Amino acid sequence: MTKRQETMSGHLRTEVCISAKSAWLQYWIDLIKWRDIALHFLFKVFPMNATSSYDLIIIGAGPGGYVCAIRAAQLGMKVACVEKRSTLGGTCLNVGCIPSKALLSASEKYHEAKDELGKMGIKISGVKLDLEGMMGHKKAVVDSNTKGIEFLFKKNKVEWLKGSGKIIAAGQVDVDGTVYQAKNIVIATGSDVAVPPGIMVDEKRIVSSTGALELSEVPKKMVVIGGGVIGLELGAVWGRLGSEVTVVEYMNRILPTMDSELSKEMQKILTKQGMVFKLSTKVSKAEADKKGVTLELEPAAGGDKEIIKADIVLVAVGRKAYTDALGLEAVGVERDERGRIKTDVHFQSNVAGIYAIGDVIAGPMLAHKAEDEGVVLAEILAGQSGHIDYNLIPGVVYTWPEVASVGQTEEQLKQAGVDYKSGKFPFMANGRARAMNATEGFVKILADAKTDRVLGCHIIGPEAGTLIAEVTAVMEFGGSSEDIARTCHAHPTLEEVVKEAALAVLGRPLHI
Ligand SMILES: Cc1cc2nc3c(=O)[nH]c(=O)nc-3n(C[C@H](O)[C@H](O)[C@H](O)COP(=O)(O)OP(=O)(O)OC[C@H]3O[C@@H](n4cnc5c(N)ncnc54)[C@H](O)[C@@H]3O)c2cc1C
Repeated sequence: MTKRQETMSGHLRTEVCISAKSAWLQYWIDLIKWRDIALHFLFKVFPMNATSSYDLIIIGAGPGGYVCAIRAAQLGMKVACVEKRSTLGGTCLNVGCIPSKALLSASEKYHEAKDELGKMGIKISGVKLDLEGMMGHKKAVVDSNTKGIEFLFKKNKVEWLKGSGKIIAAGQVDVDGTVYQAKNIVIATGSDVAVPPGIMVDEKRIVSSTGALELSEVPKKMVVIGGGVIGLELGAVWGRLGSEVTVVEYMNRILPTMDSELSKEMQKILTKQGMVFKLSTKVSKAEADKKGVTLELEPAAGGDKEIIKADIVLVAVGRKAYTDALGLEAVGVERDERGRIKTDVHFQSNVAGIYAIGDVIAGPMLAHKAEDEGVVLAEILAGQSGHIDYNLIPGVVYTWPEVASVGQTEEQLKQAGVDYKSGKFPFMANGRARAMNATEGFVKILADAKTDRVLGCHIIGPEAGTLIAEVTAVMEFGGSSEDIARTCHAHPTLEEVVKEAALAVLGRPLHI
């Protein structure tokens, strides 16, 4: 081969080589193009299945978790909520607020029909309890509420990841073996029943609140361990349906965290309704057999033991934060001495990108507290600012009469050395309360002695849980008792008792 021929064949080899390379390149370009088109198509048709990455993954669909999910979705985030129960709504909707209120309302109507309406000229004979029917009412209420959350998730495009969630690293959640990515994670796993030592809950004879919502017959004798909100509410349900209810409380008063005047009045009224109280008493043992439960009681300060018997024992000494199998140790999320997740004012744990709200963190274990935290956290994550005034979270006991409280108690004000004035007005002096035959209780308003700013309100009486909202709103705006007193209240309403209590703070109630 001549030099020229060699050179030409070299050129040819180079050209062949270049064209082979460009064909190869074209092949890959086409492949990527078609892959992108295919993926684009897949994303359009199956938007959620095509990716497992979210702006926010929330673990737990109770009032904290589901409300946070909805608010975050409203703010444009791509949100998933992990829930291991077969229904949404958490403790509150499934075994807490809602079923207990369904039974409280139904048992209240039964008691009214049987024992109260006669006093208003309505004679009913043969009133009978259909416990199965009452439980059916409760189930229907729970079902419609939990399905309602499913509807709200769909409406707001929140994806429900069904199963148990576990954090494997910041930004990664494992749900029954599938790993999902998230920019931020919120723990909203709530709480579980706390059981004192020496007692074993079997949900048959010795029951938690969950078992007490499911009893298939009315126990003749029921002992409630714990004179707090849940114990009194469920004790009231079974008491109205015919049980002899004894409440054993370790402290020297029921509702120990509320204003002591409310506790005293509540105990007086419930005693009149037939409830028996053993205060400053501790249950050291409770043993169940086929016939019932034998309880060993002793004075809280020590002393002689007493044995009492019951058909059913309800353990209602409180609830504890629930963080089982969440993987917190591995990720390094810190908890306090009571097992609650430690957070800063923006609900962030010590690990960046992992947040917590609701019963699983400090503060009152209440559904509306969890909900408000859910909303505020979603807004913070969306770049807005948010804040909760924990002094203004109302607490309500849904017995009859109801009890409701907001702000500071008299004991707290005394302890803090605050100079305050108190105004009190009884429902007995209110025309509407008399018309309703519901005259027990009072409204008490506490205000700063110098500025008149409202510092607290404590109500026991009909509709107390509704009446407290007016004072809470006034306190939100830093209002005074005079603001309430000078606001026109419709007549005849129970709200007039709130107005008169505000006038009483100023030393000039009108109707007493
Ligand atoms: C009998 C009773 C009556 C009550 N009445 C009232 C009332 O009248 N008013 C009021 O304000 N409060 C009431 N409460 C309290 C209220 O229910 C709680 O404060 C509220 O439910 C707390 O909400 P949360 O979102 O923090 O947790 P929860 O409601 O407890 O929800 C947590 C959810 O997380 C899920 N979860 C936990 N771990 C995982 C995991 N690893 N993966 C997936 N899911 C998980 C749980 O299954 C649960 O559904 C009552 C409670 C009880 C027990």
